[in-house]
Amino acid sequence: MSEMIQYKCPCCNGAIEFDSTAQKMKCPYCDTEFETETLKQVDEALSAEGDELDWASSEQSEWTQDGMMLYSCTSCGGELICHETTAATFCPFCNNPVILSGRLSGQLRPDLVIPFKLDKEAAKKALFAHLKGKTLLPSAFKDQNRIDEIKGVYVPFWLFNANAEAHMRYHATRVHTWSDSRYIYTKTSHYMLVRNGNLSFANIPVDGSSKMDDDLMESLEPFDFSQAVDFQSAYLAGYLADKYDVDKDACQGNANTRLKSSTEQKFYSTTAGYASVIPENTSVKLSDSSVRYALLPVWILNTTYKDKKYTFAMNGQTGKMVGDLPMDTGKFWGWLLGLTAGIAAVAFGLWQLAGLF
Ligand SMILES: [Zn+2]
Ligand SMILES: [Zn+2]
Repeated sequence: MSEMIQYKCPCCNGAIEFDSTAQKMKCPYCDTEFETETLKQVDEALSAEGDELDWASSEQSEWTQDGMMLYSCTSCGGELICHETTAATFCPFCNNPVILSGRLSGQLRPDLVIPFKLDKEAAKKALFAHLKGKTLLPSAFKDQNRIDEIKGVYVPFWLFNANAEAHMRYHATRVHTWSDSRYIYTKTSHYMLVRNGNLSFANIPVDGSSKMDDDLMESLEPFDFSQAVDFQSAYLAGYLADKYDVDKDACQGNANTRLKSSTEQKFYSTTAGYASVIPENTSVKLSDSSVRYALLPVWILNTTYKDKKYTFAMNGQTGKMVGDLPMDTGKFWGWLLGLTAGIAAVAFGLWQLAGLF
């Protein structure tokens, strides 16, 4: 019963990783490829151990004072210090991928995973392109070394399914205006609009990690859940992964708010064609709700510039990129000056033309 998994290549004993291009496990040393399915037995053995493993982990590994855990690397014997939420990482000494099975089994075992589709090169390219168009960006920010720090992370999400039964009543108006030689007439008609119906929602994601910014994670959506597969820890080899630290009950409130406001928006969208529509009574009842635990792929770059933190993130499946950018004031003024110089030149050209005629 081991707490730490390292998938070793049977040909050369190198540490194998998930290859997002081949969608297979691949040995980076001898290029041998393996189906993830063949590593399933490891997971099956682990899920059979399940809760027992959880229980055993607190005895087997050493806790440090600040909630960190010590492990020794099965490849090089080096000592790893991991945060209590870490589920997959790299050995800092030999750089081999490490999976901490205790954070992925029993109650903590994810139901689904969307494997990475875009590799680090693609992420770096996309980030570079994203930064390139931003003429006001300090050049230090576009530094290749900084871009190299981008990391592939499986972020824990809760996926909510539910049915929403909605009863809506709106007060709507239509306004008609006409005039004759003496008066302007306005006729306002009042309507009571009633909408009833059911909507069913599938896979509404809510971020289960307190470390991740919720707004940033929401802006990475949508993910294509038709490509989600049953969880296997082999998919995590070569990436970072965290287990959830916000449980599904704590996320339920968030999910319900999201489901209700989506339902309200959907129904509101059926009331087009009026001058005004005001909801007077809205009732949304949720039923048949269920939840699954999933790990979703995100490329993340955290960086500090002039004591401020910036985060860029890319959906590891679709390539959608989000993030905030710092502004270099020196560059901004230069840009503004360039702009006003341009305007002055145009004005001068016009004046010249005017003088000709
Ligand atoms: Zn090999
Ligand atoms: Zn090591």
